Amino acid sequence: MTIDIRSDTVTRPSPAMRRAIAEAEVGDDVLDGDPTTRALEEKVAALLGKERALFFPSGTMANQCAILTHCERGTELYADFGSHINDWELAGAAALAGAQLRTVHGEGPMMDAQALERGFRPPLTGSPRPSLVCLENTHNGAGGLVTPLAGIKAMHDVARNHGCAIHLDGARLWNASAASGTPLRDFAHHADTVMVSFSKGLGAPIGAALVGSEALMERANENRKRLGGVMRQSGIASAGALYGLEHNLGRLHEDHEKATRFASIVDRAIAASVVPPESNIVMIDLTPGLSAHDVVRRVAEHGVRVGVWTPTRVRAVMHLDVTPAQVEQAAEAVLAGLDDAWRALGDTSEWPVIPKR
Ligand SMILES: *Cc1c(COP(=O)(O)O)cnc(C)c1O
Repeated sequence: MTIDIRSDTVTRPSPAMRRAIAEAEVGDDVLDGDPTTRALEEKVAALLGKERALFFPSGTMANQCAILTHCERGTELYADFGSHINDWELAGAAALAGAQLRTVHGEGPMMDAQALERGFRPPLTGSPRPSLVCLENTHNGAGGLVTPLAGIKAMHDVARNHGCAIHLDGARLWNASAASGTPLRDFAHHADTVMVSFSKGLGAPIGAALVGSEALMERANENRKRLGGVMRQSGIASAGALYGLEHNLGRLHEDHEKATRFASIVDRAIAASVVPPESNIVMIDLTPGLSAHDVVRRVAEHGVRVGVWTPTRVRAVMHLDVTPAQVEQAAEAVLAGLDDAWRALGDTSEWPVIPKR
């Protein structure tokens, strides 16, 4: 059987989760409200210490709804160069909100307060007015790295100084909290709106939420409706999310332990250097001359699916549906695929190899 560790989104709902979905009490969420969705929204708002939560079909829609809610047309929003909002949302800020995305490059793997400060323009005639700063925690593109609370607070302070609202893309904020021990609400305290996803580590098939103040969520709700994101018997979807919160939030540390174990095995490869994982994502950087597409294809021949992240970076993500034994097996398969790719180079006696971290 193939082991699929391309993403933590590949999990299938468990029999117990499917039962919870089948038995969910539902209603029309456009007309009178759906009781299961209401229960989920109340639970999420309480966990994150915000007044109100809105359920969404996807994290992308919730992020875009936040941008629409915070940014006037012709203003500028700031996000990390490697953020999901920059890389994977098809220029939604430009296409939907009419706002310009200015990307920030940190000195290290992620945006930090100094880099954000440097990104702001002097307020001169013709320079766009800054409206929003988007943070991401954990940071997917950097390899599931956690920004500690102090870092989030420092970026919040810079954003506020420049009159910006703050949106936190917390698709994996659950993981950031599990890895750091910082309560979810403490992270959320430094943002006006937060997006959280149910279809990643929590194992639900569908859904995300946007949380914030009553006033912000009232406007976000209009934008959600405009985007087509208010769903009728949405309890069918939110029941899976509720089940994930109740049963899978407390086990995320297991995925982090799997990532550490996986990384320690894969890092034995001559032809790769692994970013030491801080949560459930493992990024594997390749020695010059190797291609991520080629390595992924060779690893698949050993029965394991990993993902291409960049031309020279491969991503593996630990999740609910891989057992510790499968993690060992998957790591050995990645080692074998890397070895195949290395040997295919021919005489490597003089070949440069990527330094280990
Ligand atoms: C997955 C992800 C999203 C988008 O969520 P979808 O539900 O897949 O649309 C947004 N931000 C980050 C950091 C993600 O990892």
